[in-house]
Amino acid sequence: MSDIDRITKALLLAYIGDIDCTLTNSDCNELTKYITGLKYENIRLQSELKAANEDAERLTKYHIIRGAANECRYCHKYEIGLDDIIHDPDCPYQLHVERIAKEAQS
Ligand SMILES: [Zn+2]
Repeated sequence: MSDIDRITKALLLAYIGDIDCTLTNSDCNELTKYITGLKYENIRLQSELKAANEDAERLTKYHIIRGAANECRYCHKYEIGLDDIIHDPDCPYQLHVERIAKEAQS
């Protein structure tokens, strides 16, 4: 079962859990259309997320300005040691690193 199928199944179960009625054939047809729409929306969003992740990866790859000290081009924090930089909490590099770590845990 693909990720999309698992997500669709979870959405369907959540949707069915919210309704309290007997489904007619018309209801089933509408539900099928709804699920198909969700599948296409999911594919579109997954594609956009993949593109955004690729952009973030590319932008964070070159986040350091090298000089006497290493400086983050986004939050402008700097240190001699590259790993010693403490980025601002809202630094795009920091946010990207935290998001990737969170994804790795799930
Ligand atoms: Zn930074």
